[in-house]
Amino acid sequence: MVKGLKMYRSFGVDALVDSETEQDSPLCEHGPTLLFERFTVGKGSRKYYACSACRDRKECDFFQWADEKLTKGKLLRQKEVKKILSKKRKSPDVIKENDEWCIQCESSVTIQNKDEHREHETKILSLSDVESPSHLLTAKENKKYNAQYFFDQETIKFLSTTISRLGYKNILCIGTPRLFEVLRLKSDISVFLLDIDKRLHQFYSSNSFLQYNMFNNFFFEKNGVEKCKGFLSQKSPIETLIIVDPPFGGLVNILAKTLKSLWKMGSEEVLPTILVFPYFLESHVNKNIGDFTMLDYKVSYSNHPHYTNNSKNPRGSPVRVFTNIPADRVALPQEGYRFCKLCQRYVYKGNRHCKICKLCTSKDGRTYVHCKTCKKCVKPGRVHCDTCGSCEPANHECGREKIGCHICGDLNHKRRDCPQKKMESRLSSHGKRSITEDTTRNEPVKKKKKRKTLV
Ligand code: SAH
Ligand code: ZN
Ligand code: ZN
Ligand code: ZN
Ligand code: ZN
Repeated sequence: MVKGLKMYRSFGVDALVDSETEQDSPLCEHGPTLLFERFTVGKGSRKYYACSACRDRKECDFFQWADEKLTKGKLLRQKEVKKILSKKRKSPDVIKENDEWCIQCESSVTIQNKDEHREHETKILSLSDVESPSHLLTAKENKKYNAQYFFDQETIKFLSTTISRLGYKNILCIGTPRLFEVLRLKSDISVFLLDIDKRLHQFYSSNSFLQYNMFNNFFFEKNGVEKCKGFLSQKSPIETLIIVDPPFGGLVNILAKTLKSLWKMGSEEVLPTILVFPYFLESHVNKNIGDFTMLDYKVSYSNHPHYTNNSKNPRGSPVRVFTNIPADRVALPQEGYRFCKLCQRYVYKGNRHCKICKLCTSKDGRTYVHCKTCKKCVKPGRVHCDTCGSCEPANHECGREKIGCHICGDLNHKRRDCPQKKMESRLSSHGKRSITEDTTRNEPVKKKKKRKTLV
């Protein structure tokens, strides 16, 4: 299953990042909610607020139609949440080697709380436990929320040597706790970690870790913004690097907005940045974040069954590194990769330079084949099909209807650009409906009736 992919990527829903109403967004315990717009064929659209960080009802059940007033109860709840969020939290004491640790609660056992853990299994922490929480803690693999998948040894080695080789001295890690704990041990660089996983508070003081939500750029600590600003501007922008490995269900337009805010925090310049994301979402990155190149390096995780480079996955991991660092500067390991002089970048060994495309065209690592009719390179094993007008697998369902715009069906544009969109959303009527809440997404569905899925 895809790392966190289920979180936002439900067709028929857009997140509206540039909305003017942003300041008025209601709050959930993950900070300001996001405004989404849901489309249903023949019914137009309707806007609603939902949690930015999580699509699991069990973790956050916030939901609010944008065109409905908050009920008295909800207003009260808003006040409470606001209070909770603005309360000055006392960070727990940072744990040390030889401290006692409760395995069940994943927290330290102190003289004050000893009673709570009396019946639990505990252990004495070793130095390596304390230095690498990503090995001590159980990974929060909920794909609709944390999607916590840790890099394996090889990827850690690749990232940390790349960082050293390129001379970055100031690294802001976002959602990369394992990389952070490795970089931290290097004496010549400073690192700072932002992650929504508050268990990490027990390992690091707020001088190197802050609980943070990357989908609304929200710091849970009051002076978090200042701390992050301070970190980003303590060294020159060319020595500073941001590296982020988000849940892949997060929409790229939201992440793009966060990156822009963080760049602004440091200086007015665009900072060198690495975004870890799957190759099959390359178009989303290209569309939302300018000037990022996808590198061929296959990012591999230690606790993900498919996103890993082992013998069970013949094509290796589909996860890649997207970056605004010039591609010729990022050397990829000799085993598996080579330098293409014409493209001026490192590519998979099997990535052949196509003379017609004038590029090394492989995306998934296999050698692609040029199709003269399609005028582009395609995956090996595809055959050109005249009915479909494209290269397809030999056993494809021929002539299957292509999916066009969700509103009018036109194949040449997507819902977002549909000329009928404005008209339809104005025409659609939203009478009172009884709503049950879907357990898989933060959008409501009508009671009993199965919701039409737009795929
Ligand atoms: N590969 C990385 C971990 C990536 S898993 C490593 O090995 O270091 C994704 C991480 O992002 C998790 O640690 C998770 O807690 C964090 N995360 C998930 N949603 C987040 C959000 N909304 N804001 C900030 N961090 C988030
Ligand atoms: Zn929430
Ligand atoms: Zn080609
Ligand atoms: Zn073709
Ligand atoms: Zn066909």
